[in-house]
Amino acid sequence: MSRVPELFGSMVFNDSVMKERLPRDVYKALRRTIDQGTPLDPAIANVVAAAMKDWAVSKGATHFTHWFQPMTGITAEKHDSFISPCADGSVIMEFSGKELIKGEPDASSFPSGGLRATFEARGYTAWDPTSYAFIKDNTLCIPTAFCSYTGEVLDKKTPLLRSMDAISRQACRVLRLFGKEVNRVTTTVGPEQEYFLINKEDYARRPDLILTGRTLFGAPAPKGQELETHYFGTIRPRVKAFMEELDDELWKLGICSKTEHNEVAPCQHEMAPVFTTTNIATDHNQLAMEVMRKVADRHGFVCLLHEKPFEGVNGSGKHNNWSISTDKGENLLEPGSTPSSNAQFLLFLTAVIKAVDEYQDLLRISVASAGNDHRLGANEAPPAIVSMYIGDELGAVVDALVSGSDYTDPGKNSMDIGVPVLPHIPMDNSDRNRTSPFAFTGNKFEFRMPGSSFNIACTNIMLNTAVAEELCQFADELEQAEDFDAALLQLIRREIKAHQAIIFNGNGYGAEWPEEASRRGLLNLRATPDALPHYTDEKNVELFAHHGVYTRQEMESREEISLEEYNKTLHIEAMTMVHMLHKQILPACMDFSGKLAQNVAVKKSIGVDSPEETQLVRNLTESTANLSTLTVALEELLQKVPEGTQPASRYYCDQILPAMGKAREAADRLEMLVGKDAWPFPTYGDLLFYV
Ligand code: ADP
Ligand code: MG
Repeated sequence: MSRVPELFGSMVFNDSVMKERLPRDVYKALRRTIDQGTPLDPAIANVVAAAMKDWAVSKGATHFTHWFQPMTGITAEKHDSFISPCADGSVIMEFSGKELIKGEPDASSFPSGGLRATFEARGYTAWDPTSYAFIKDNTLCIPTAFCSYTGEVLDKKTPLLRSMDAISRQACRVLRLFGKEVNRVTTTVGPEQEYFLINKEDYARRPDLILTGRTLFGAPAPKGQELETHYFGTIRPRVKAFMEELDDELWKLGICSKTEHNEVAPCQHEMAPVFTTTNIATDHNQLAMEVMRKVADRHGFVCLLHEKPFEGVNGSGKHNNWSISTDKGENLLEPGSTPSSNAQFLLFLTAVIKAVDEYQDLLRISVASAGNDHRLGANEAPPAIVSMYIGDELGAVVDALVSGSDYTDPGKNSMDIGVPVLPHIPMDNSDRNRTSPFAFTGNKFEFRMPGSSFNIACTNIMLNTAVAEELCQFADELEQAEDFDAALLQLIRREIKAHQAIIFNGNGYGAEWPEEASRRGLLNLRATPDALPHYTDEKNVELFAHHGVYTRQEMESREEISLEEYNKTLHIEAMTMVHMLHKQILPACMDFSGKLAQNVAVKKSIGVDSPEETQLVRNLTESTANLSTLTVALEELLQKVPEGTQPASRYYCDQILPAMGKAREAADRLEMLVGKDAWPFPTYGDLLFYV
């Protein structure tokens, strides 16, 4: 373990490398850019680029790439070598400031949702100096933002950086009212990443896993997760070896992987890093997913990041732990121990409550996908209804504020403005509500709806911007106040009262909750096509325009891209189903029943009656015919997808998905009738339980 400190960040052009390799004035200028967002002088960029290149070459790198996050949800890279030919036939390794700052990849094949016609294929990538460059596969990767030539954003990083600026601006205004001069406030995120590891050989025999990332067929195994033996269970040696190598690889990249454990479902695990600035946490999470896949491969596993790879078994999510802190290290969601810090905490808490209530739709949209639709509302994931859990202690404070009564906890004082001294809120409250989509966990909020394969940028763009808006409104009001304390208390009371419907401390999995939520007027956007059209609701367009995060066109294009992705995903799934039915399942069923029928005939020819076998042949033949009919029905439906992204998404949701469900049910029943050796691919038992 002693080598960990040397290993950590060894592939990152981080602060200590910069300090060591850059002239002092260049280092200082770059640091100012990183910390305060001041523009970088091109002359300085040249020096930085040369130092970066020398460092990268010393680590064995031969290429560089602008590493970016287009709207596909994955990361993109186009590698160029450092090589530059000389007149004498030799080469030198070169990398200029211009190449560092700006790249011009052909953008035509990335989704733009109509923002950019293919013939205007030019796009450019711009260096994001706030996220350190790193080396991956002998390539120097430079984290970048990706825009069209006319300036529209085509990626997830640019709006995330804008949303971080927005919340910083507004939070600094609010802090000034409390007498604090703060230059920058940043949101921090620690994303917990769930995943499955399954055997590579099994994966290779499942076209559904290969093409869609999830199983489209599979009867339940005799054993599921009912014994609850997997969660935090002993880690199998093969998995342990994987986790050790994963940690090594992540540490080299400066990703502070901290916690590794088994999750609830068989073959399901989790990795949680130590939290960091949202922008870096997002980059790191994208990288971590990539590294997980690669390392799994080296251990004979495939890492499944799909939200619901197996029906009837827990799916995988990504818990977005989120907080806000100042550049002086003060966590603004940490309840204080003095009356004034309590008041400040309560104001930020109120901003989050108001934001989550007013922009429930955006939070829901940020986690909407075909894959996550199978998970949200299932028994292990929060429901599709957004609500907040704040715990009993804070709940009592909030109730007291709303009812206007003084919250009196024996032994605790109440400050003049009536804001109580908060009781100590245990950070690791063990019985905290696991069923809440958005839970306060002592000094941060944990948003549990994001799916395991998601880029967390989107969720954090929504959260940062929505909270920025509320802080802006609060600052507008309080900056005008004559009596700050009185105005503050009045505002907190008024807003909590207006938005307390979003607070729900009960069981989010309970059957009564959807009814109760509907009485409270909360949204229940069950499926992706229910949620996405709200993206461009007028209030949302105004929100993002107000804070300079998205223009209307950018939002329209994002809505279009997400809906299109939903449609394409379902199309591929349905086609894969039809393919597996025709090529594998139906032939296997026919073969099996045919052989059985032959046996019956042979037995009969020697005078042996086999009524049970005869009945089984009949059953199999009928069920196979039924499955065949369902297959044809699905194929026919696929021919009739309506024009237009939105109508098509409704059709996929309301027509195709139920037809897929019926075909699956029939096929899974047949799986139980057909002999194991005759079934054409590994079953749930094979995939999830092995030695
Ligand atoms: P649990 O599984 O009990 O929710 P974990 O320890 O697995 O808890 O994950 C908690 C995550 O929250 C970690 O990634 C941790 O770094 C992160 N976290 C802790 N404090 C903050 C904070 N102030 N801001 C953002 N994330 C935080
Ligand atoms: Mg958690």
